Formats: sequence, C-alpha cells, structure tokens
Amino acid sequence: MRFPFALTKKIASHIIRHKLRKTPKFAMVLQLEPLHTCNLTCTGCGRIREYSTSLKDMVPLEQCLQAAIECDAPMVSVCGGEPLIYPKIEELINGLLDQGRVLYICTNGMFMRKKMRDYLAVVYSPKIEPKLKKLLDGKLISEKEAETIRKSDETARKKVVIRPTKWMYWNVHVDGLEFTHDLIVEREGVFKECIAAIKMAKIIGYQVATNTTVYKETDVQEIEDMFKYLSSLEVDGHTISPGYDYDAAKKDMVSRLGKDPKQFFLTRDMTRQKFAKIQEWGKAFTIFGTPVYQEFLAGKRELTCTAWAIPTFNVKGWKAPCYLMTDGHYGGYQEMLSKVQWEKYGVVNGVARDPRCEHCMVHCGYDPSGALGTNYQSGDNWKNIKYNFGAKPKPFPASLELVKRAYNGVTIGKGHLAEAKAIINSPAAGARGAFTRKEEDHQHQEAHVGSHCGTGDTSERDELLEKIKDAKKAEA
Ligand code: SF4
Ligand code: SF4
Repeated sequence: MRFPFALTKKIASHIIRHKLRKTPKFAMVLQLEPLHTCNLTCTGCGRIREYSTSLKDMVPLEQCLQAAIECDAPMVSVCGGEPLIYPKIEELINGLLDQGRVLYICTNGMFMRKKMRDYLAVVYSPKIEPKLKKLLDGKLISEKEAETIRKSDETARKKVVIRPTKWMYWNVHVDGLEFTHDLIVEREGVFKECIAAIKMAKIIGYQVATNTTVYKETDVQEIEDMFKYLSSLEVDGHTISPGYDYDAAKKDMVSRLGKDPKQFFLTRDMTRQKFAKIQEWGKAFTIFGTPVYQEFLAGKRELTCTAWAIPTFNVKGWKAPCYLMTDGHYGGYQEMLSKVQWEKYGVVNGVARDPRCEHCMVHCGYDPSGALGTNYQSGDNWKNIKYNFGAKPKPFPASLELVKRAYNGVTIGKGHLAEAKAIINSPAAGARGAFTRKEEDHQHQEAHVGSHCGTGDTSERDELLEKIKDAKKAEA
C-alpha cells in the first residue's frame, strides 16, 4: 500500500462520517502554529514577516490541544516558525497522539537529531546497541553522544520524548539540492543536517516525509534528482506544492522594487506547466496529496477552493480565510466557519472571486477539494482509493552519482556560500541581492504571507533562484 492502512482508514471514516451527517464544512488537516519563532531566516519566508511583532508569543499547550479537539481534524500539521523550538513540543506531540490524530511535524531539520538522541536515552538498553553502531558508523551521532545515551540516568529516562509511531511523520523542509537549499535558507550546512537527520530517523524507525515548494525559477530536473536521492534514503513520502503570491505582494514588488511581477511570480499557467512535468516522473515516488489534486496542478481539471478544510490556528487565533491570506483571526473554528463569507474566495471555472486568489493552486486550498468540493467527477473516489491502496513505489537505487548530485555545492566549512553570496550580490548579477535583505524589511511587509517552509511570498526566492541559475551558467 502506498500509505499505511490505519491512516487511510482513519481519514476515510472521517470523510464518510461527515458526508452521512451532511456536515456542510469540516476540517481535514489542522495547521497548528504554536509559535512563529525560528532559528533560520529563510529568504522569502512569509511567517517570520507577517507575525514579526509576535515572534516571541506562544500558544499555551492546553490551547493547542483544545484547538485540535475543537476542529476535530484527523490530521494535524505542527508547524510554525520552527516547532521544535516550542518548549512543550514533546507534550504537544504526545497530547495530539493521545487524541488519535495523524501528525506531521513540519521542521527545518536542525533540531531533529537532538530530539532523537533524547528518545534514545529514554529507551536505551543493550538491545539497541546495533542501532547505535549504525548511527556511529554513519557519523550521525558522535562517540560522546553515544556514551551520554548509554549512561542516561533516572532523570533523563523520565523525559517526555517524541517516539517513533505509525501515526507520526517528521516532515522535513527541503527546497532543492545542497547548493539551492542552503542558499534559500541562508545558512551553510542546513541541507547536510537535514539529510543526517533523515538518515538517523530512518535507522531508529521513524516515518519521514519531506515538503518542497516549487517556485517560478525552480529547476524541475533538480527536484526530480532530489526526490531520487530522498527515495534512495527510504523517505516515506513527499509533499510538493506550488509557491504563490497574492495581489499585495505584487503591488509591493512594483512600488518598492520597481520590478515587473510577471518576472517572478508563478502564475496558474506556469504552475500547470511545471506540475505536468512533475506528474510524469512523480509516479515513481510516494507523493502525498490526492491524484485529483495532482490532476488539478497539472492543468487537467478545475477545482474550487475549500480552505475551510485546512484551517490554521496560531497565536492570534483561527486565521481566515486560509493559511496564506489573512483577512482576520477568529476566536473559534465554528465562529470562523460561520462568519467568513467563503463564497468570496477561490477561483471558479477560471474566474477569480477575489483577485488575490487568481494564481493560487496551493494544497491548503485545493488538496481536499476533490473529495469535499463541488467539482466531484464520477470515478474520483475510486481514483483516490486506487492511489492510496496502490503499491508503494520502490526506493530509488542508491548510487555515488546520486550522492554527488545531491551534495553539489555548499557544505559547512567549505566557504562556498560566501562565494555564492558574492556572485549573486555582485552588481553584475543584477539589482539588490536576496542576501542584502535588511531586518527592517520584515517590519514593513505586513502584506506578505506565506507558510512555514512552504508557500508564501515567492518573489525573493524566485529572484534568488534566478540568480543561482545565472551563477551556475557562468560557472559552466
Ligand atoms: S484560493 Fe488560495 S489564496 Fe484564495 S482563499 Fe483559497 S487558499 Fe486562500
Ligand atoms: S521558511 Fe520555515 S525554516 Fe525558514 S525561516 Fe520560515 S519558518 Fe523558519
């Protein structure tokens, strides 16, 4: 099976239950943002901008758990900011698992190994020595860390930890191979750390997914190579979604930067072209997302937005209308459902009800639409069932060539990032470089929205990726 049976059953029963009750609108995935603080400052990240004035605020644990009970989504995506910074992350994860949710911890990967070492210290017995040996052989833990795990005392063993379970996935943000990813996250060694964390998680027995956003300048061939490499590491699945900007971001681009938005934004047509290619080779990988949504992305059908099915809860409340746009925050999920005029949003038969929705095809608006929206076509359910129950694609064979392609530039200590920064910030590379972004930009861009490690204002990233392309051409 492509996805674990228990998970598929839980989600299917949730839909069937609400269909039988004729519930008009209900939640499928809760995007839970317990905080917006992050250890990285990725180029173009919407969250650390939109919530720049509340970066130190956190949603109390009880309120997070209550939000999940309130909307009763079978799946919860714990995101942020960086959720592993949340002081009660272990309690939050365990509390949500106790509620019977399927969990995705959306992380930039930088603290994963620490969290997994905590887990190993709690469960240590001589029986796990073979795993420790594998981790040591792969240089995923140091001798000193192995000793700490072995010598864990009573206090360390009482720690609440994140344990491997079939109900949870680490969902690691990876936007490209080493060179591209480290440039986008603006720090050397992040790609390397993500890969180490993924390898460690697989040895211990966690489920691992990755999430990737496709931008205008994203090289689809690079993403295919990246999926091959991740598949060779036995990653369990991938989320892939188009980047998106809305109207205000375009206006900002014209007024502040004097640029033509068409140069940078992923329009519907561009999304369709890229995803038509991705759909061709995507069959070789376990892509999360219904086949109906994948057809929509590839331009083979229309869907209406069902943003109410993937609500976002954060320090300000229930964010409406969607993960991307903020027209308000509400005190309760039901209150948000009843007060928001949902018919004002989305694109119907190619016509945008709200100009800001014009080019949006993101998963948080459209992924559940095939099953919940008004575009049901006969055979859709069968298509989705067949996809879920279909054989899981085999891992791509590991090879040195693949590793070489993955580690294509910036590994910590080699100083390539400084070189790359110099290239893309040089006058020859064009105007203001992404790395020259100043802190005050964060304060003056309230209109910019986006997601943790995902969709959002793509202009800076697109600009950056374009420069990377130019730099690579110049190198060749
Ligand atoms: S179409 Fe996109 S931007 Fe518009 S409401 Fe739906 S998810 Fe949000
Ligand atoms: S994109 Fe994710 S990892 Fe990067 S700064 Fe934003 S929240 Fe942090």
